[in-house]
Amino acid sequence: MHTLPATLLETLVHATARAIGCPENEAGEMARHLVGANLAGHDSHGVGMLPDYVRLADVGLLVPGHEPETVLDMPALKILDAGRGVGQWMAKRAMDIAVDGAREAGCCTLALRNSSHVGRIGHYAEQCAREGMVSIHFVNVADHAPLQAPFGCSDPRLGTNPFAVGLPGEDGPALVLDMATSAIAFGKARVARNKGVPVPAGALLDADGHPTTDPTVYVDTRKGALRSFGEHKGSGLAIVCEMLGGGLSGGLTIHPDHERRDGIVNSMLSIVIDAARLGGNRPFAQEVEAIKDYIRQSRIAPGFDEILMPGEPEARSRAKRGRDGIPIDARSLDDILAAARQAGTDAAVIAEVEAARS
Ligand code: NAD
Repeated sequence: MHTLPATLLETLVHATARAIGCPENEAGEMARHLVGANLAGHDSHGVGMLPDYVRLADVGLLVPGHEPETVLDMPALKILDAGRGVGQWMAKRAMDIAVDGAREAGCCTLALRNSSHVGRIGHYAEQCAREGMVSIHFVNVADHAPLQAPFGCSDPRLGTNPFAVGLPGEDGPALVLDMATSAIAFGKARVARNKGVPVPAGALLDADGHPTTDPTVYVDTRKGALRSFGEHKGSGLAIVCEMLGGGLSGGLTIHPDHERRDGIVNSMLSIVIDAARLGGNRPFAQEVEAIKDYIRQSRIAPGFDEILMPGEPEARSRAKRGRDGIPIDARSLDDILAAARQAGTDAAVIAEVEAARS
């Protein structure tokens, strides 16, 4: 394992994004987002995505320098087509527009269709919460073979279809629930393979539909499937994410009638609500804190050390990794640097990372 400072990784992502043709605003957003995911503890959606982005840009499946196109612009209902533009920039712009819409109309439903990979969905829930907005996000993942086996299936039929909710507090996000609807995100299986460790029991099926904890065959050959989390309930949410994130948005869905070009296409249906317009006698932010406190006052269940709220593991990770640096396994760092070289990233930046790892 290597431990690198967040600032150095941000410089590497930024320089690589510039090298593949991203203008300054997109490169900055991609770098902050990917390193932000590592800081939050989600290495699956951090700088380890860079080799995929370089590959996708190389074959025209990620389009730098593209702005989202407005398809529908009603006060409380909007559609943007991202045309495979840089996901972090597309989704940031979409949330700017949805927040403005919710401020004006009280709430705004925005469908962002056909974006290249948007990354960690909680990032956008946090963006909305900083503006005083509640937000709910249904996301599908298309343009490649399915990865997730819904409840009762031996075969994969869905992507890892994430779902997120953000609640605003008095000073920034008060609670962020952000999760893949598969038991683990695909990137977590990739990170486990790179580290040479098993995935949690119940997360993976082998090619014959039997449970396995070895990620190697699955990550290298895609034979097998990630299981939905939470039995039939998580599976149901994964299916709803496909229908709303992909289908209702008018983006690509996982159905084989749609094209599959081996890219990563996210479509996201976001419902953004101005929290100040709703709620009862007690301001919403105070109600949220009161409910969190009430839950925390429960006796701790056997086998647990503490009671955490959604979003707390990420906040703790940010504090620790911001202080100590971001751990990256050698194989992932090799892959990232190889992709950076292939993209033509500034050699001085690559040399700086090489020096920091040794
Ligand atoms: P996870 O399982 O680590 O966490 C899921 C949620 O549970 C988080 O809100 C977290 O705060 C909360 N949580 C974790 N441990 C907890 C505890 N002990 N007590 C209380 N709450 C706890 O997340 P994941 O499902 O592995 O997803 C990882 C990331 O992958 C997410 O950011 C998601 O948006 C992203 N993702 C993106 C895509 C895409 O296509 N863009 C696809 C899938 C997943």
